[in-house]
Amino acid sequence: MGRRDRIDPGRQHTVRREYGFEGKGLHTGLFSQILICPAAADSGIVFQRTDLSGGSNMIRAVAENVKLTERSTTLACGPVKVQTAEHLLSALYCLGIDNALIKISGDEAPILDGSAKPYADAISADGLLEQDASRKYIVVDKPLHYKDCNSDSEISIFPSDSFEIDITADYGSKVFGIQKAHYDSGMDYAAEIALCRTFCFLREVEYLLSLDLIKGGDLSNAIVVCDTPVSAGTLAHLEDIFGIKGLARVPEGYLSNVKLHFDNECARHKLLDVTGDFALAGYPLKARIEAYKPGHGINTSAVRYLREQYINSAK
Ligand SMILES: [Zn+2]
Repeated sequence: MGRRDRIDPGRQHTVRREYGFEGKGLHTGLFSQILICPAAADSGIVFQRTDLSGGSNMIRAVAENVKLTERSTTLACGPVKVQTAEHLLSALYCLGIDNALIKISGDEAPILDGSAKPYADAISADGLLEQDASRKYIVVDKPLHYKDCNSDSEISIFPSDSFEIDITADYGSKVFGIQKAHYDSGMDYAAEIALCRTFCFLREVEYLLSLDLIKGGDLSNAIVVCDTPVSAGTLAHLEDIFGIKGLARVPEGYLSNVKLHFDNECARHKLLDVTGDFALAGYPLKARIEAYKPGHGINTSAVRYLREQYINSAK
């Protein structure tokens, strides 16, 4: 599994059984448990906060419910909030899951290994459950263009018979360079995208260290991009944080706490994040997306606009 073309693209699908995950959130550091459960046709992807009682504790994973986009995508409606949902949503969307109930016991989804691999591997091993309902798509019929003048970010959306996405990531960093990544629904998502881990720049880590905001293990699976040489003192401090010895900056400019799966793993992870945000369209898309320097803010604005334009004509 992992390829959409191995399921009937004309039918809706849900998961075959419940899948449980647990761990700390990347941003809040808080522990939470997640249970991905089968759901009825036409119910979409819905989160249920099991730790909240009284009134509704459910929130639909759609762009109208996006409240914050600083470093992750946060859904919120009244007291019901779910932060950093994008990795799980990417896995569900790219594997072709239309309907699922996600029970979550806290504010933020666990970061797990920094990728969507745990979700994709578990669900792919069982395959999906076909449902007795035809699948609706958002079919983009004219080009759309988004530009954020502050960040230089751009997103263009074109008509296409299938879902395709190309991204370009550029942080003005010599080490990172200009990285590109591609995904289309004919590719093996689990093997080519889902395993790509989150990343950050050493200068961000140093800033958080100076505020004493990084706790052990928080970054154990993150790719750390080092633009400049790293001092022995910083390396010693990071060895403490990661709990490993012999930490170094490799010649390519990354910290040696992880070995890259792909030369462009960071761009592939950025693409993973974009697919997680486009999952908030609420329906699979027939569109080709080109994103330059994508970010959660511009991604979710574009998806919100898509829903406004096409939600009544999904077919
Ligand atoms: Zn991410």
